[in-house]
Amino acid sequence: MLEVANLYKFFRHVRAVNGLSLHVQAGEIVGLLGPNGAGKTTTLRCICGILRPDAGQIAVGGYDLATQEQQAKRLMAFIPEMPNPYDLLTVREHIQFVAMCYGTLRTFHERIQELLDRFDLRDKENELVATLSKGMKQKLAVACAFVHDARVYLCDEPLLGIDPRGQHELKTELQRLRDEGCAILVSTHQLDTAERLCDRVIIMQAGRKLAEGTLEELRAQSQMADSTLEQVFLRLTEEAENAAAVVSDVSPANQ
Ligand code: ATP
Repeated sequence: MLEVANLYKFFRHVRAVNGLSLHVQAGEIVGLLGPNGAGKTTTLRCICGILRPDAGQIAVGGYDLATQEQQAKRLMAFIPEMPNPYDLLTVREHIQFVAMCYGTLRTFHERIQELLDRFDLRDKENELVATLSKGMKQKLAVACAFVHDARVYLCDEPLLGIDPRGQHELKTELQRLRDEGCAILVSTHQLDTAERLCDRVIIMQAGRKLAEGTLEELRAQSQMADSTLEQVFLRLTEEAENAAAVVSDVSPANQ
């Protein structure tokens, strides 16, 4: 459902994404993990079309993002890490505005009602977005992502700032969408949540894929039977950092 091949994105001298390939199948939740600055957000922003990659191919539901942008984008929904909603719309107007980008309001009427209830936004529906708390703005971003029938969901730290009930609703919705055959890519630092929610994880470091697989496969790769995802993550990323330090120590610049 989502195919990324040899993705590169540079910011001047920074190789934020450095030859990354990944895929997410229909009916799968894949966790995108990695230390700060690993390139997770840049990857997600390239996939959803906010950033233009320097090289690589992205296909969504078989549509090439570079040449069939509208068809590809129509299949996607994105929950950003730091939502930047329109302050001068009310909560209801904001969700309606996003819905109208994908169809007529009548099509989405019931879905909007359900999302307002589900994410505790009902008593704020006529308030300006500017007056919402940080967590409420995040819930609004979640409701906007869920308002239309996407097939590929890209979620960048979606649980950040959301209260426990909202987190529960969000995880339940992601699992329901997975069971309906959607493909879901979620970046998170919450490794216990990733362990429970994701069918598979990809660990990124310095713009590259460091490891990929189910928890069982990663345990085998790191030779840590019975370990948690957190323990495996710490081992693999530490080993990679040590290896990178050795390489930079013996590089000609340091001779
Ligand atoms: P975090 O876990 O902290 O959110 P991340 O894995 O999402 O990190 P990115 O935000 O993708 O990492 O950043 C990857 C690299 O690209 C970092 O070195 C970052 O400083 C750099 N970077 C990201 N956006 C920009 C930008 N707009 N301009 C310059 N450098 C950027």
